[in-house]
Amino acid sequence: MIQVPFVDLAAAYEAQKSAIDEAIQRVLAGGRYILGKEVEQFEQAFAAYCDSAHAVGVASGTDALLLALKALNIGPGHEVITVAHTAVATAAAIVLSGAKPVFVDIDPRTFTLDPSLLPGALSSRTRAVIPVHLYGQTADMDPTRSFAKTHNLAVIEDCAQAHGATYGSHIAGSMGDAAAFSFYPTKNLGAIGDGGAVVCRDEAAAGRLRKLRQYGWRERYISEEVGMNSRLDELQAAVLRVRLASVDADNDARRRVSSLYDELLADTPLELPREADGRRHVYHLYVVQAPNRQALRAYLAKKGIATAVHYPLPVHLQPAYIHLGRGPGSLPVSERTAESVLSLPIFPQMEEAQVAAVAKAIGDYYRSAS
Ligand SMILES: *Cc1c(COP(=O)(O)O)cnc(C)c1O
Repeated sequence: MIQVPFVDLAAAYEAQKSAIDEAIQRVLAGGRYILGKEVEQFEQAFAAYCDSAHAVGVASGTDALLLALKALNIGPGHEVITVAHTAVATAAAIVLSGAKPVFVDIDPRTFTLDPSLLPGALSSRTRAVIPVHLYGQTADMDPTRSFAKTHNLAVIEDCAQAHGATYGSHIAGSMGDAAAFSFYPTKNLGAIGDGGAVVCRDEAAAGRLRKLRQYGWRERYISEEVGMNSRLDELQAAVLRVRLASVDADNDARRRVSSLYDELLADTPLELPREADGRRHVYHLYVVQAPNRQALRAYLAKKGIATAVHYPLPVHLQPAYIHLGRGPGSLPVSERTAESVLSLPIFPQMEEAQVAAVAKAIGDYYRSAS
């Protein structure tokens, strides 16, 4: 029986073993471990990759969102519009900034923020919108940006799942006032521990971010404001420099896996992910909607196939956040989506035989169940 893990980070290491080993040795021998040349060079390369001017390395994607909010002066007394169908970090960062998240529902085809619902979420306290480029596909940015412009709101892209995704001629991270990235190991561009970055065009905002990530220091030991310790370290940056060079090839490999799934699963009762016109999906996750999700998951697990659910409970219904929203029934598409989504294994090194084994098991399940 062929075992199919959900992701295979060891295979990603093996694929670039000598370059990664060399990068790690270079940092160890160099003797500088925090905010040195590796971080600087990665920041420059990553800003260029995102077709932007500045990238500021930080400790995680959550911190990237939090620091972006702080750098744009969003905090207590303000509201930030976002989605509830996302990683909880999106909402956590808003609450940690002191602002209040206001949740809107998603488009059922792309699973991203439905811009037609923005007017209903606006108040005199609204300062920003955080669209999430979920699963590897960008949110619908044109109407989101024009709404934000009309109402003088900042746009912060949550790009944690969408390194290299595009919307028309724009790459994720180039479309907002700031963009937050995560380099958590499983992301499309992953470190060997935690990491993140804020990308922005504005020089002053970048300077503010550099201060805020390190105690609010203007210069060493002199704090101009209260800041955090949220730094990307040299080891992570050195590994990320290696991986940045192959992120496009890795995304192409993910797209090959997804095309093969599309073909092999076409005749099953699953609803398959859809790539919207003009958007290039980078398949951080391959998410289907499955009748009898729990039973299918259990069947696949018995066959040695790992699956996951992103995400089982929308943020507005989670214990820590329920007081902020309007409760069950208030975001019907998000709530329905949470009940049916199922993430199938996908990673750049996934072999055709593994994809075929997953598809065969799914076909077998529905034949035996009908
Ligand atoms: C992973 C993720 C984050 C948080 O990133 P961390 O590095 O884990 O803090 C934020 N938003 C989304 C959509 C994510 O997937």
